[in-house]
Amino acid sequence: MTTGTAIRTVEVLVTSPDRNFVTLRLTTEDGVVGLGDATLNGRELSVASYLKDHVAPLLVGRDAHRIEDTWQYLYRGAYWRRGPVTMAAIAAVDVALWDIKAKIAGLPLYQLLGGASRTGALAYGHASGRDVPELFDSIRHHLDEGFRAIRVQTSVPGLDAVYGVAAQRTSTGARYDYEPAQRTVVPAEEDWDTRSYLRHVPGVFEAVRNEFGPELPLLHDGHHRMTPIQAAKLGKALEPYDLFWLEDCTPAENQEALRLVRRHTTTPLAIGEVFNTVWDYQTLVREQLIDYVRSAVTHTGGITALRKILDFAAQYQIKSGIHGPTDISPVGMAAALHLDLAIHNFGIQEYMQHGARTNEVFQQTFTFTDGLLHPGEQPGLGVTYDDAAADTYEYQPAYLPVNRLKDGTVHDW
Ligand SMILES: [Mg+2]
Repeated sequence: MTTGTAIRTVEVLVTSPDRNFVTLRLTTEDGVVGLGDATLNGRELSVASYLKDHVAPLLVGRDAHRIEDTWQYLYRGAYWRRGPVTMAAIAAVDVALWDIKAKIAGLPLYQLLGGASRTGALAYGHASGRDVPELFDSIRHHLDEGFRAIRVQTSVPGLDAVYGVAAQRTSTGARYDYEPAQRTVVPAEEDWDTRSYLRHVPGVFEAVRNEFGPELPLLHDGHHRMTPIQAAKLGKALEPYDLFWLEDCTPAENQEALRLVRRHTTTPLAIGEVFNTVWDYQTLVREQLIDYVRSAVTHTGGITALRKILDFAAQYQIKSGIHGPTDISPVGMAAALHLDLAIHNFGIQEYMQHGARTNEVFQQTFTFTDGLLHPGEQPGLGVTYDDAAADTYEYQPAYLPVNRLKDGTVHDW
């Protein structure tokens, strides 16, 4: 072992500035600090316990340089593989080790991943509105902030609260910053009707294209709510508006469902934010049923594992679209940006800005200029954790909403 690179301390840090975050902090004998994001929206304490009770004792004394070996040890060594809690915990360890390795090398992490393949990562923001004028206002606001690609979400007439719309009852964020996780011990409920949604959405995209022209990349998230044939119908209906992608058009567990969608539409498809290993992508990638991989570094076992998924996808001309809403901490976001910059098959990066309190806890070096994100040139990830600020924000239970059809049946949220 290289002298001084053994892991001396393992800390699991829980804070709740604008929302709950779980952060892993590893410190080597030489005092080099690595951070990893272990935030799993609505199940934060499960990952904190997994790390504290079951992983921390295994890490003390291990050589921080042995990233691949540690990854395999935690994945195979647990015997019980996969799942969001396990893979978020492994991701936190993996990212913290990459942070340490890059700091020891004196290089920003992307240099260890092969160096920059581009000047920055094209980011898309979340625009939304309860009606078309409010949506246009939100899109203009994002363009003014520098975004060059926009996700469009809209309310649906007859439905009280739907996924992705900031200015509605079940959102707690600022006007243009959709934050669906509410601080509550029992999740809020939203309502849903797929036929109303399918009737309404194409007209909204027609209005947006007419107003903003053909150039602006537009994205849309179906949030797992459609059957395969409904998703196929929507994809087809949206073809005239030239979407960058249609995301999560069906529940993601059934990879074969995408065969049916793919047969009927040329609208590009993105999926995978709830996936946690390469096995979730096996059919999707090999049969070229999707165009973009939506996984987060934080939920997919870290940089080591997501890099392998993206290399597998690259053989099939499938690109990245790394998950990046505010339930990814700035540590997880920085990890994504280093990967975005280095990989060849980069597609786009989701970017939902964190609030001021979060930025006070997590001090960051990444920049957002002319629509492009860049992780900065500081050695490591480029994020530091302010304990004094973090300690003022105690964990508060918070949950994503659940969803019901008009007749009360529980539906995918
Ligand atoms: Mg999504």
